[in-house]
Amino acid sequence: MRVDADDFVVVSHEDAAPSPLESAPRYLSEIDDAIEHMSERLWTVNKKIHDNPELGYEEFIAHETLTTFMRSVDGWKVTPSAYGLKTAWVAVWDSGTKGPVVSFNCEMDALEEIGHACGHNLIATASVSGAIATAEIMKSNRLAGKVVLFGTPAEEGGGGKIKLLQAGAYKDHKVDLNLISHPGIKRNHALTRTSAYTAFRVEYFGREAHAAASPWLGINALDALVTAYNAISVLRQQTMPGDIIQGNISDGGSRPNIIHAYAAGNFVVRADTQARLDELVVKVRNCFEAGATATGAKLKITPSMAYADHVPNRPLGASYARYFNALSSSSPSQMIPADQDLDEMLGRSGASTDQGDVSYAMPSLSPGFAIVPGPQGNGPHSPDFTQASGTRDAFEKALRVGKALAGTAVDVLTVDGLLDQVKQAWKESTKKGSQAVA
Ligand SMILES: [Zn+2]
Ligand SMILES: [Zn+2]
Repeated sequence: MRVDADDFVVVSHEDAAPSPLESAPRYLSEIDDAIEHMSERLWTVNKKIHDNPELGYEEFIAHETLTTFMRSVDGWKVTPSAYGLKTAWVAVWDSGTKGPVVSFNCEMDALEEIGHACGHNLIATASVSGAIATAEIMKSNRLAGKVVLFGTPAEEGGGGKIKLLQAGAYKDHKVDLNLISHPGIKRNHALTRTSAYTAFRVEYFGREAHAAASPWLGINALDALVTAYNAISVLRQQTMPGDIIQGNISDGGSRPNIIHAYAAGNFVVRADTQARLDELVVKVRNCFEAGATATGAKLKITPSMAYADHVPNRPLGASYARYFNALSSSSPSQMIPADQDLDEMLGRSGASTDQGDVSYAMPSLSPGFAIVPGPQGNGPHSPDFTQASGTRDAFEKALRVGKALAGTAVDVLTVDGLLDQVKQAWKESTKKGSQAVA
C-alpha cells in the first residue's frame, strides 16, 4: 500500500485481490461451462448486431436477432415488441417456484454515422449470456425464482429504459434487481457512478429591424443567447466538481444587417446526483432569464431528455468482483480492486445513461469492462471504438462479464440474506444521493 501525493490511498493488487484459487466461487465452473457451450451461437448474434448498426427505437435487426435467439433457448418465453415499443422485448425463464426475481437489461442501439461506437452489441452479449447461464444454474440446482431479460431500446439519448419503467415493465415482473454492464478501454470495475443529466433546447424570440438604420426598433435574440452563454461561463467558477454545463448555438440570426429576431441552442447540464442536478438547473435557468431580461427577448425552454445518475450497489459489486476476478488469468491490473472505495473511484464517469433511472427504481449493477482499444486508442463514441467493439477479443471479454453477472445473480438466489443486504444498501445509497448536496 502507498499513499499518493493526492492523498488517495492506492492499494496494490497483491494486497487487495484474493487469489483466484482461494476464492473460486461455488457455481463458477458450471456458469463457465454453460456460457462456453453456447459461445459460437452468441458470436453470430454479437456480430450480426455489430455489423448492422441501428439507431434508437429502430433496432429492428437486433430485435429480430435477439428474440429469435432467445426463442431457440429451452424454457424461455419471449414477448417481442413489448410495452408498445416496436424494438423492446422481454424474455422470461420461470423456475415455477416462488423466489427472487433477477433481471438483466440488454441494449441494442448504435450511434449515427459511427455505428456501434458505444459497444452495445457487447452489452447485449454479456446480458443475454448472463441471463441464460443464470437460468441453467437454477434448472440444474433446482433454485427457486425467476430470470427476466429486457431488450431495452434507445440508450443513446432516447431513454428506452425510462419508457419501460413508466410502462411498468419491471413492476409487472416483480423484479428485485437489475444487472447490465458497459465496455470501455480503461479498466475493469464493478461499481459505476454516472452523471445525472438533463438536455433542453433554448430559444429566444426578438424583433427584426435594420441593424444600421434603426437598430433601436429591434430586439436582439442573439444578444440574449450570448448574454446567457457568458453568464453560464461566469457560473462555472462557482460550480461543484462533477457539475458540467455544455451548449451550442444552432441558430444565430439570418444576416448581419438585420437585428436577429430568433436565436436558439441546445444545452446539457450534468451533476453527480439527481439532487445536485436539480439545484444546478435552477442556476442555469437564471442565466437564461438574465439574457431575456437584458435584451427584452422572450425565452422558451423545451426539455428533451433527462437521465438520473447511476447509483452503485456494493453488495452486488462484491459478488460480481469475486466472480470476475476468479475468472481472470490476466494481469493484476485487469482485476477489480477488493477495496470498494477505490473501485467506486475508478468507476466514476462524467457520462450518463438511462440505467441511472433504473438504479433509483431498484438495486442495479452496471460494471465497466475494458476491451483492447482500436489503433488510435480512443474510447466510446469514436469510430476507433466501433472497430474495437467488433473484435473476437472484445466478444470474449463480454462473455467473461456475462459469467460474472450470472455469478452475481446466482449469489442473490443462493446466499442467505444477500438480497436483503442488496435492498438495504440500495435504500441507503439512493437516500444518501439526495442528502449529499443538502
Ligand atoms: Zn454511448
Ligand atoms: Zn453506451
